[in-house]
Amino acid sequence: MAKIAFIGLGNMGAPMVVNLVKAGHEVRVFDLVEEAVQQVAAQGAIAVDSARNTLLGAEFLISMLQTGKQVEGLMLTGEALLTHINPTALVVDCSTIDAETAKEMAQAAADKGIEFVDAPVSGGTAGAAAATLSFMVGGSEGAFERARPILETMGQNIFHAGGNGAGQLAKACNNLLLAVLMAGTAEALNLGIRCGLDPKVLSDIMLKSSGRNWALELYNPVPGVMEGVPASKDYHPGFMVDLMCKDLGLAMEASLASQSAIPMGSLARGLFNLHQGQDNGTLDFSSIFKLYRRDA
Ligand code: NAD
Repeated sequence: MAKIAFIGLGNMGAPMVVNLVKAGHEVRVFDLVEEAVQQVAAQGAIAVDSARNTLLGAEFLISMLQTGKQVEGLMLTGEALLTHINPTALVVDCSTIDAETAKEMAQAAADKGIEFVDAPVSGGTAGAAAATLSFMVGGSEGAFERARPILETMGQNIFHAGGNGAGQLAKACNNLLLAVLMAGTAEALNLGIRCGLDPKVLSDIMLKSSGRNWALELYNPVPGVMEGVPASKDYHPGFMVDLMCKDLGLAMEASLASQSAIPMGSLARGLFNLHQGQDNGTLDFSSIFKLYRRDA
C-alpha cells in the first residue's frame, strides 16, 4: 500500500481521501480549514498541521484545490512543495485549472526530476463518494501508468487524454457542455412547469426521449423531483456556481487561444455569471433553475 500526501479536503477532496483510506493506503492530509482535516482524520486519515508535513515518506502527492493560483502557490511559490518533496514521488493535481498553469507546473517539476500529471475529475460529489469518478489525465505514458492504480481506488474511468495540460483541456470541454446541458435542462423544465406540466412527469418523459442527458439522469435542477440531489437540499453544493463560472472562464480562454467559436458556451457563461452576480455563487450550479423560475 502507498504513502500518499493529500491536500485540499473540500467537497471533492474529503470523499476521495476516504476511498484511499478504505483501500488501505496511508494518507497524510492537510487543508486550510481545520474542521475539514478533523473530519477525514475521524475516518482514518493522518492529520498534520501544514502542507509540507504531509510529505513525510510520500510516494504520491495529490492536490484538490479550487484554482490554478492556489495550485501554483502550493507547489511553487508559497508552500513550494516541489522543492520539499522526495523527487521519486509522483505529483497528481486533480484540481480543475487552466492548461497553461498545468504545463508550467509539469515543467517546474521536470526541472527537479519530478513527474507531474494533471488529473481533473468528473462525476460530482456523489461520484467522489462512490469512487466512480472519471479522471482525465495529462502527462507522459509512464507517469499515467504510475498514477493509474491510485486513481482506480477513487474512480471508475481513467483516461489518458495526452501530454501535460491535455487532462485540463478535456475537462474544460466537458464542463462547457455540462453548463449548456444544465442551463438547457432548467429552461425546458421551467417551460413545462409554466405550461402546467408536472416537472417529475416531464423529467420521466424526457429521460426516455431524445432530450435525455446527465443533468436529467442524475442531477435534476428542480427541487423535489429527485431525492438526495442539491436541488432537494436548498441547492447546498455539490458543485458551486463560483466553480462553474471559473470553469467557463477556462473554456473561454481555451477558445480564444485556439480561435474556436463557442456560442453556446458563451451564452451559458453569461447566464451563470448573471446568476453568480445575484448572490448565488456558493449555491450548487443546478440552482441556475432559479434564474428561470417565476413563482407567480
Ligand atoms: P472546495 O472549495 O469544496 O475545496 C477546496 C479545498 O481546498 C478547500 O477546503 C480549501 O480550504 C482547500 N485549500 C485551498 N487552498 C489550500 C492550500 N493552499 N492548502 C490547503 N488547502 C487548501 O472545492 P471542490 O468542490 O472540492 O472542488 C475542488 C476542485 O475540483 C475545483 O477545481 C473544482 O472545479 C473541481 N471539481 C469539483 C466538482 C464538484 O462537484 N464539487 C466536480 C469536479 C471537479
